[in-house]
Amino acid sequence: MSEQSEEACLFCHIVSGKAAASFVDINNLVVTVMDVRQFHPGHVLVIPRRHVPDIRAVDIPTAEAVMRAVVRVARAVDAEFPSDGLSVWNSAGRGANQEIPHLHFHVHPRMVGDDLLRIYPIAPPYPDRGVLDAWARQLKSALTRVGA
Ligand SMILES: [Zn+2]
Repeated sequence: MSEQSEEACLFCHIVSGKAAASFVDINNLVVTVMDVRQFHPGHVLVIPRRHVPDIRAVDIPTAEAVMRAVVRVARAVDAEFPSDGLSVWNSAGRGANQEIPHLHFHVHPRMVGDDLLRIYPIAPPYPDRGVLDAWARQLKSALTRVGA
Protein backbone atom coordinates (compact mmCIF):
# COMPACT_ATOMS: atom_id res chain seq x y z
CA MET A 1 0.00 0.00 0.00
CA SER A 2 1.16 3.53 -0.65
CA GLU A 3 0.34 4.92 2.79
CA GLN A 4 2.94 7.36 4.02
CA SER A 5 2.89 9.85 6.86
CA GLU A 6 3.05 13.56 6.20
CA GLU A 7 6.28 13.63 8.21
CA ALA A 8 8.01 11.48 5.59
CA CYS A 9 6.31 12.96 2.52
CA LEU A 10 8.48 14.81 0.03
CA PHE A 11 5.58 16.90 -1.28
CA CYS A 12 4.53 17.91 2.25
CA HIS A 13 8.13 18.97 2.78
CA ILE A 14 7.99 21.06 -0.41
CA VAL A 15 4.72 22.66 0.72
CA SER A 16 6.18 23.47 4.17
CA GLY A 17 9.47 24.72 2.77
CA LYS A 18 11.55 21.90 4.31
CA ALA A 19 12.48 20.65 0.83
CA ALA A 20 13.62 22.79 -2.06
CA ALA A 21 11.45 23.32 -5.12
CA SER A 22 11.09 25.79 -7.97
CA PHE A 23 7.65 27.28 -7.40
CA VAL A 24 5.51 28.32 -10.34
CA ASP A 25 2.38 29.24 -8.35
CA ILE A 26 1.10 29.06 -4.79
CA ASN A 27 -2.40 29.59 -3.42
CA ASN A 28 -4.25 28.57 -0.28
CA LEU A 29 -5.02 25.06 -1.57
CA VAL A 30 -2.47 24.21 -4.26
CA VAL A 31 1.18 24.62 -5.18
CA THR A 32 2.63 24.23 -8.67
CA VAL A 33 6.33 23.41 -8.98
CA MET A 34 8.80 22.37 -11.65
CA ASP A 35 9.32 18.59 -11.73
CA VAL A 36 13.00 17.80 -11.16
CA ARG A 37 12.87 15.59 -14.29
CA GLN A 38 12.68 17.58 -17.52
CA PHE A 39 12.58 15.23 -20.52
CA HIS A 40 11.19 18.22 -22.39
CA PRO A 41 11.51 21.61 -20.67
CA GLY A 42 8.30 22.69 -18.94
CA HIS A 43 7.33 19.55 -16.96
CA VAL A 44 5.42 20.75 -13.87
CA LEU A 45 3.59 19.19 -10.93
CA VAL A 46 0.35 20.47 -9.42
CA ILE A 47 0.08 19.41 -5.76
CA PRO A 48 -2.59 20.08 -3.11
CA ARG A 49 -1.12 21.66 0.03
CA ARG A 50 -2.99 19.13 2.21
CA HIS A 51 -1.54 15.63 2.39
CA VAL A 52 -4.00 13.62 0.30
CA PRO A 53 -2.67 10.19 -0.68
CA ASP A 54 -4.32 10.08 -4.09
CA ILE A 55 -7.34 11.09 -6.15
CA ARG A 56 -9.60 8.60 -4.36
CA ALA A 57 -9.25 10.51 -1.09
CA VAL A 58 -9.38 14.15 -2.21
CA ASP A 59 -12.24 16.43 -1.15
CA ILE A 60 -14.12 18.18 -3.95
CA PRO A 61 -13.06 21.79 -3.15
CA THR A 62 -9.40 20.71 -3.20
CA ALA A 63 -9.99 18.71 -6.38
CA GLU A 64 -11.55 21.74 -8.04
CA ALA A 65 -8.61 23.90 -7.03
CA VAL A 66 -6.15 21.29 -8.30
CA MET A 67 -7.89 21.00 -11.68
CA ARG A 68 -8.15 24.77 -12.02
CA ALA A 69 -4.38 24.98 -11.43
CA VAL A 70 -3.76 22.16 -13.94
CA VAL A 71 -5.71 23.97 -16.66
CA ARG A 72 -4.03 27.31 -15.98
CA VAL A 73 -0.49 25.94 -15.89
CA ALA A 74 -1.15 23.83 -19.01
CA ARG A 75 -1.90 27.06 -20.86
CA ALA A 76 1.24 28.68 -19.43
CA VAL A 77 3.45 25.71 -20.33
CA ASP A 78 1.98 25.71 -23.83
CA ALA A 79 2.69 29.42 -24.18
CA GLU A 80 6.26 29.34 -22.87
CA PHE A 81 7.80 26.02 -23.94
CA PRO A 82 7.91 24.61 -27.47
CA SER A 83 5.83 21.46 -27.92
CA ASP A 84 3.52 19.63 -30.27
CA GLY A 85 1.07 19.05 -27.42
CA LEU A 86 0.83 18.23 -23.73
CA SER A 87 0.25 15.15 -21.61
CA VAL A 88 -1.57 15.61 -18.32
CA TRP A 89 -1.47 12.60 -16.04
CA ASN A 90 -2.13 11.35 -12.57
CA SER A 91 -1.37 7.99 -11.01
CA ALA A 92 -3.25 6.60 -8.00
CA GLY A 93 -1.80 3.73 -6.04
CA ARG A 94 0.87 1.09 -6.45
CA GLY A 95 -0.86 -0.57 -9.40
CA ALA A 96 -0.57 2.71 -11.29
CA ASN A 97 3.08 3.17 -10.29
CA GLN A 98 2.38 6.25 -8.19
CA GLU A 99 5.84 7.28 -7.03
CA ILE A 100 5.02 9.87 -4.34
CA PRO A 101 1.90 8.98 -2.31
CA HIS A 102 0.62 12.57 -2.20
CA LEU A 103 -1.86 13.52 -4.91
CA HIS A 104 -0.28 15.29 -7.86
CA PHE A 105 -0.89 15.90 -11.55
CA HIS A 106 1.85 16.11 -14.13
CA VAL A 107 1.70 18.59 -17.00
CA HIS A 108 4.30 17.57 -19.56
CA PRO A 109 5.15 19.04 -22.97
CA ARG A 110 5.14 16.47 -25.77
CA MET A 111 6.78 16.23 -29.17
CA VAL A 112 5.60 14.15 -32.10
CA GLY A 113 7.56 10.88 -32.01
CA ASP A 114 8.99 11.32 -28.50
CA ASP A 115 7.53 7.92 -27.56
CA LEU A 116 6.77 8.92 -23.96
CA LEU A 117 3.86 7.52 -21.94
CA ARG A 118 2.77 4.76 -24.26
CA ILE A 119 -0.44 3.56 -22.64
CA TYR A 120 -1.02 0.02 -23.90
CA PRO A 121 1.91 -2.43 -24.09
CA ILE A 122 -0.40 -4.71 -26.11
CA ALA A 123 -3.66 -3.99 -27.94
CA PRO A 124 -6.54 -3.79 -25.43
CA PRO A 125 -9.80 -5.73 -25.81
CA TYR A 126 -12.92 -3.95 -27.11
CA PRO A 127 -15.82 -5.38 -25.06
CA ASP A 128 -19.27 -5.64 -26.62
CA ARG A 129 -21.68 -2.71 -26.18
CA GLY A 130 -23.72 -4.78 -23.72
CA VAL A 131 -20.68 -5.20 -21.47
CA LEU A 132 -19.87 -1.49 -21.68
CA ASP A 133 -23.48 -0.60 -20.89
CA ALA A 134 -23.46 -2.93 -17.86
CA TRP A 135 -20.24 -1.39 -16.54
CA ALA A 136 -21.68 2.10 -17.11
CA ARG A 137 -24.75 1.16 -15.03
CA GLN A 138 -22.49 -0.30 -12.32
CA LEU A 139 -20.48 2.92 -12.11
CA LYS A 140 -23.59 5.11 -12.26
CA SER A 141 -24.86 3.29 -9.19
CA ALA A 142 -21.49 3.64 -7.47
CA LEU A 143 -21.52 7.42 -8.08
CA THR A 144 -24.49 7.69 -5.71
CA ARG A 145 -22.36 6.17 -2.95
CA VAL A 146 -19.04 8.01 -3.32
CA GLY A 147 -20.21 11.46 -2.31
CA ALA A 148 -20.23 14.81 -4.07
ZN1 LIG B 1 2.23 14.72 1.63
